[in-house]
Amino acid sequence: MTNASTEPAAEQWEAAVAAVRALGGDAEVQLICHVSPDGDALGSMLGFGLGLRRLGFTRVRATFPGEFRVPTPYADLPGMDLLVPESEAYTAPALVLVFDVAAESRLGGLADRVVAAPVSVLLDHHASNTGFGTIRLVDPRAAATSVLAEQFVARLGVPLDAEIAECFYVALATDTGSFKFDVTTVAVHELAARLIATGLRPGDISRRIFDTRPFGAMKLAGEVLGRAELEPAAAGGRGLVWTYATLADLARHDQPPYVLDTLIDPVRSVAEADVTVLVKQVAEGEWAVSLRSKGAVDVSRLAMSQGGGGHRLAAGFTGYGEPGDVVDTVRRLLDDYLN
Ligand code: AMP
Ligand code: MN
Ligand code: MN
Repeated sequence: MTNASTEPAAEQWEAAVAAVRALGGDAEVQLICHVSPDGDALGSMLGFGLGLRRLGFTRVRATFPGEFRVPTPYADLPGMDLLVPESEAYTAPALVLVFDVAAESRLGGLADRVVAAPVSVLLDHHASNTGFGTIRLVDPRAAATSVLAEQFVARLGVPLDAEIAECFYVALATDTGSFKFDVTTVAVHELAARLIATGLRPGDISRRIFDTRPFGAMKLAGEVLGRAELEPAAAGGRGLVWTYATLADLARHDQPPYVLDTLIDPVRSVAEADVTVLVKQVAEGEWAVSLRSKGAVDVSRLAMSQGGGGHRLAAGFTGYGEPGDVVDTVRRLLDDYLN
């Protein structure tokens, strides 16, 4: 897949700014991020929502599809009072803004709301973005959706304050793997510097977001990591490492699903494998599959072939059957991809 496009075109920015400026302060504005929201989805959405509030908008709601559960590390993000369950989203908002959503499938039951809206602005950074919405602020090279949200807020003339900055910082830190991934450019550090300059304490934020988990989550991680399997010959000899976690595992340790979100990181540190797979049960026979590569494989292509998406080195899709079936599928996709 070629990725010639970079930043959103000037006309898209102008249209997005005009769409906001066209509204009165009492217009209903609905913000939506992807199902099972992560730090970028919530942070970019809530930071932008606070920006709208600073502009005088009084009817701003934020939501995401599916079960209304915010991962504990994000529960204290500024702007959390904007968040409502899917059932309380505006039914006919004047403007819809969509954050960090690669494909309409990630909008669940809210996809119709986006289609029906008179104007919908899409803010995203997935190379696999399927291109919906009337105005598209999509930059596959942006490190996080919050990079676009911050630009949008600035173009609307809202100065950064500590609350908006904390939301955008959490989003940026999440999607750059704490400023470790290749997307961590000079511009990313410059943005981080501007955000920190509002008075943020990166150490406190990192501890809260990345380094605080219940004891049960650690015990659960021990089991899931303990059952990992290494297949050095897979992926054309580049190596595959995989493991899985079931709903029963979560229940046994009395843990919510979010504790599995970062569990792929210790697995992908395995030196003998380029490709990492974590298969997480979401329902009977249904699994959220996380894929990572160290560079040899464009895992977003594998994920897209299964109806999922993501980035070149980090992607995901929904798999079916048993964990072994899902990994069989991935092995086959890898063989096809590498041949
Ligand atoms: P994860 O493995 O859940 O951390 O996701 C890695 C990347 O893949 C993120 O950018 C996700 O937005 C994307 N992704 C994960 N699952 C899906 C899916 N089912 N459909 C589209 N994109 C996905
Ligand atoms: Mn995301
Ligand atoms: Mn993102």
